Amino acid sequence: MKSREVHLNAYLKGDPRPENYSIVETDVPAPGKGEVTVRNHYISVDPYMRGRMSGIRTYVGPFEIGKVMEGGAVGEVVESQYDGLKPGDFVNSMFGWREAYTAPGDGLQKIDVSQLPPQAYLGIAGLTGMTAYVGIKRIIGLKEGETMWMSAGAGAVGSAGIQFAKAMGANVIATAGGREKCDFVKSIGADAVVDYKAESDLTAAIQAAAPKGIDAYFENVGGTHFTAALNTLKQYGRIAACGMIQRYNDAQPAAITDNLTFIVGKSLRIQGFIVTDHFDMMGDFIKELSGWMAAGKITPAETVIEGIENAPDAFMGLFSGRNTGKMLVKI
Ligand code: NDP
Repeated sequence: MKSREVHLNAYLKGDPRPENYSIVETDVPAPGKGEVTVRNHYISVDPYMRGRMSGIRTYVGPFEIGKVMEGGAVGEVVESQYDGLKPGDFVNSMFGWREAYTAPGDGLQKIDVSQLPPQAYLGIAGLTGMTAYVGIKRIIGLKEGETMWMSAGAGAVGSAGIQFAKAMGANVIATAGGREKCDFVKSIGADAVVDYKAESDLTAAIQAAAPKGIDAYFENVGGTHFTAALNTLKQYGRIAACGMIQRYNDAQPAAITDNLTFIVGKSLRIQGFIVTDHFDMMGDFIKELSGWMAAGKITPAETVIEGIENAPDAFMGLFSGRNTGKMLVKI
């Protein structure tokens, strides 16, 4: 079997560009004992992958140059020499950025596609949803009746988090880029929305949306958003620092905001987190999510780009805001 896959040509500085990637055709070997061959149906492209393209080690090592990149993927077993999986089974893996692969069966996670479509395991029911859940539940410790600001509210983590926070009884304000995205964010339950691209003073816009201030801020963006959060958080406010996408393509480190003294004066608590350190919450997450879904409180959202050859475009689209909900590539 042949498979096309995406390689990184060189480590990046600044914005990712199409010439940074190559599409390469390879042979997929037949499975040996204990192995399966899987045809991917969807692969995930995520902002954190930008860090892996810089050649430096963050919380995860860099991609290897001239080799297929890794990432989340869901696919269907087409051939099996492993007792735990048979053709037709669906699995979740980190063998993304490729159409098909052969791998040991015991390293793959079988998924149940009878209740949810396979791609949900890359979005609302996967690490994306889990990230929103961990940030809100454990890092912020959001309480009923509190007001939370969700940044990048129309994105994958953001749109999941808005719905989770509403299901927990919170008041949610959200920021997103453009009228269409703001309408979407409202449609999934946000109480107030700010189009940050249309506002010259984000602090004033957040104050207008939440006149009594905000108890918690879910940080996905950084930069100007972080500054506005420090300005608008109430005394004892909490920040879950999940991501700072505004900074990922910076060639040079950006200047630090000058209102950091609010951290002291307002006794703020800021905590970063990486979702993979919180897998002990997986059982709670799946249980609570299932209940919310059964009660009709959750609408999964995704943007689907077709074809492995368009995976680099889909990835670059995360930085221009091309996605609403989870950005996926359908293979
Ligand atoms: P998104 O689906 O939110 O995609 C990115 C979105 O960010 C875009 O659609 C765009 O929305 C917004 N954006 C892009 N560039 C900028 C910019 N310069 N300024 C403001 N907004 C921008 O991605 P995810 O939901 O997957 O990730 C959201 C954040 O969470 C990221 O920072 C990511 O790194 C982080 N993350 C962290 C994890 C962890 O374990 N800590 C795990 C998963 C994700 P718009 O059009 O509205 O501007």
